[in-house]
Amino acid sequence: MEYRTLGKTGLKVSVVGFGGIPIQRVSAAEANAIVNRALDLGINFFDTARAYTDSEEKLGAALKARRKEAVIATKSMARTGEAMAADIKKSLETMGLDYIDLYQLHNVKSKRELDRVLSPDGALAALKEAKKEGLIRHIGITGHIKDFLSQTLVLGEIETVQFPFNAVETVGVPELLKQAGAMGKGVIVMKPLAGGALRNGNLALRYILEHDVTTVIPGMDSLQQVEENAGVGNAPLPLTAAERYALDEEVKTLGGAFCRRCEYCKPCGQNIDIPTVFLLDGYYTRYNLQDWARERYRALKAGADACIGCGECEERCPYNLPIRQMLAEAAARLG
Ligand code: SF4
Ligand code: SF4
Repeated sequence: MEYRTLGKTGLKVSVVGFGGIPIQRVSAAEANAIVNRALDLGINFFDTARAYTDSEEKLGAALKARRKEAVIATKSMARTGEAMAADIKKSLETMGLDYIDLYQLHNVKSKRELDRVLSPDGALAALKEAKKEGLIRHIGITGHIKDFLSQTLVLGEIETVQFPFNAVETVGVPELLKQAGAMGKGVIVMKPLAGGALRNGNLALRYILEHDVTTVIPGMDSLQQVEENAGVGNAPLPLTAAERYALDEEVKTLGGAFCRRCEYCKPCGQNIDIPTVFLLDGYYTRYNLQDWARERYRALKAGADACIGCGECEERCPYNLPIRQMLAEAAARLG
């Protein structure tokens, strides 16, 4: 396995890490076997989140026996200091750990949210306090809007940045990678297979590892996936011309109906959170997490069926997606 240094954290992490979303759908015993196989094959970076139902619990149960071999990252959507302190405590309890290597601000996506996080009683203050107490070792941020993440990297306390990057979703990535590299931030790449839309994992992961990233974290829920992904990390060779052509062709087959979560379509006058609807629809159709996706969809302020067809979002979408049609299809599945 090849290892790279996670920015100024100094942590040595495997170039292929472990994304903790899909582990929700296997049993605890299967999760234990999968995680142990990953460790055996040299994968040492594990990423989960408070929001991923029992993912923290399953990963923690498997990892605590081999704690020294693993770099464990989790994250919370908490924006206030009180809520973040509670979530850090909960993560430690759920995973059965004394400390967490990296705790991330999860999906900060607006100036308003960032202001709340940075306020004197905000989430960042709680993370800094937890770091002082030794409960966490490092602080990071995750998000989907590259321009916005770029603005947050100036914060000295933020040591890592995690965002989606794949052969389909490239807008803003070169600029963000350049900035992160110049500022010594570790780069964690999520959604390397575009939410399961890209089928050739080997090419998709090697494409990402050609760039100046630290680790890429495909989600894994089988021994076969662990073995295939670890194999890429053992020898992340650049793509040949023929392989690049094959990947480009696969991207073309996705056609126009794939949301990159750039959020340029917002706001919708009907309060529909368009990218979140498409994200949940992706979990439904590609990740086989139907109940989870439906439950989250029902908690949204407005469902996709609230669309009145004004078309304003489509004018703003840089990828020219047929948003109205896609929303209608999502509403039929998730509603
Ligand atoms: S077309 Fe539908 S989703 Fe798009 S802005 Fe109008 S109401 Fe919102
Ligand atoms: S629908 Fe278009 S504008 Fe909206 S998040 Fe997806 S790709 Fe971006």
